[in-house]
Amino acid sequence: MSNEEVLEFIKEAFEENYELMRLEGGHSITNEAKERALQQVLLYWEKLHDLAEQVTDTEITLTLPEQTTPEGRKYTIQGVVDIVQANDETTMYDVKTHDLDTVQGSIEHYEGQLNIYSYIWKNLRQQPLDSAAIIATGQTEELKQAYRTENLQVIQQAVDAWEPVVEIPIETKNVHHTIEQFGKVVDCIESNRFQAPHWEKLKQPVVARKNVPFGTHVCRNCDARFSCDAFKQYVSDKEGISNGRYVEFLDNYGDEQDRIEWIKANMEEETETDNKDENSSKHLGIAARAFATGMFARYGYDVSVRYGAESSEYDLIIAKGAKILKVAVKASQDGDWGIVPSGEEDVSFEEVFDAWLAEQDLQMVYCLVQFQDVGMDQLPGIYLASPEEVAEKLKAVGDRRMEEVPEEWRFSGERVEEMFG
Ligand code: SF4
Repeated sequence: MSNEEVLEFIKEAFEENYELMRLEGGHSITNEAKERALQQVLLYWEKLHDLAEQVTDTEITLTLPEQTTPEGRKYTIQGVVDIVQANDETTMYDVKTHDLDTVQGSIEHYEGQLNIYSYIWKNLRQQPLDSAAIIATGQTEELKQAYRTENLQVIQQAVDAWEPVVEIPIETKNVHHTIEQFGKVVDCIESNRFQAPHWEKLKQPVVARKNVPFGTHVCRNCDARFSCDAFKQYVSDKEGISNGRYVEFLDNYGDEQDRIEWIKANMEEETETDNKDENSSKHLGIAARAFATGMFARYGYDVSVRYGAESSEYDLIIAKGAKILKVAVKASQDGDWGIVPSGEEDVSFEEVFDAWLAEQDLQMVYCLVQFQDVGMDQLPGIYLASPEEVAEKLKAVGDRRMEEVPEEWRFSGERVEEMFG
């Protein structure tokens, strides 16, 4: 295959993979971000094609079965590596999507993992191994900044300085300790024991990134930050802000450019679909979120909109002082709110509603935006209700549909205060 054919193949494979991931994950990226990602793959090929061409065994699955955790659970360790055999030497490569800074910042974790793979390859498979390395394919901060300048010279300098291969010394004598640590993590996951570190730890820099602390580099990508006390404390301390402004930081998806791209991508995604049906449920959902956001903002609350939140339980976070309210926004133009799922045929309404209520987050409230019989030039009815109130009302109606929303639920300053409890 000529270099041009390889480049063409990479572009086609990239496009196919992107489409697959977009459909599976339900998230888009902007054309600019997509273009940059493709650039990064092509750059990786350009920079490492000598190495890539030497790979003798690609995507080798290494398995360490029948492991037992300290609490007696059975589990299997599995990893995928590439092997290069050249000049009578064998090297194992573990290709990571993480960037170089992240790898160097937590090198001990990568060493432990790669040494388990080395142990499997050498001791269990009885294969030769002379060296091992991580290939950190993620875009570094320097490369990202360089591409943003659109200056070819600056880009070339950043590319030349980029060294994505990180050698890892093979040291299998500690491998049993690492496996034990894996086992402890498995026990924690299986027993639902999760605990964020003390917030002071979030101030510690991710080593290689010097001035960028864990709380910024890692937490900003963590979905748990919305309910993480350590992150909340870290943000309050770092920014010297009052709890009332905390909500602004929940939307911290990175720097300004990252945020613009995230919002733009998801807005493009939302407006891309079904333009023909002006009253599709998707459009109603978007309109309902906008009306609800406007109402809370109008009453002086801080509002954080969860972009691309179709799959999550709630759409808005409302803040008042140290208090936070999660809000799920529902729209209807025919009495069907899509809140309570259908139950089995032989299960009573009461049982369905009780089961639904038992699974509800009672810290969350519903904002119902009623479009039924509302003209295009009129405002919809907007109501607030707790999950208990919704369940009680639907039980009383004896249906999942609710055409008449109780007047006492109507959105008002008092009603919002009531919801805060
Ligand atoms: S925000 Fe996520 S990564 Fe950060 S401390 Fe909390 S749980 Fe850990």
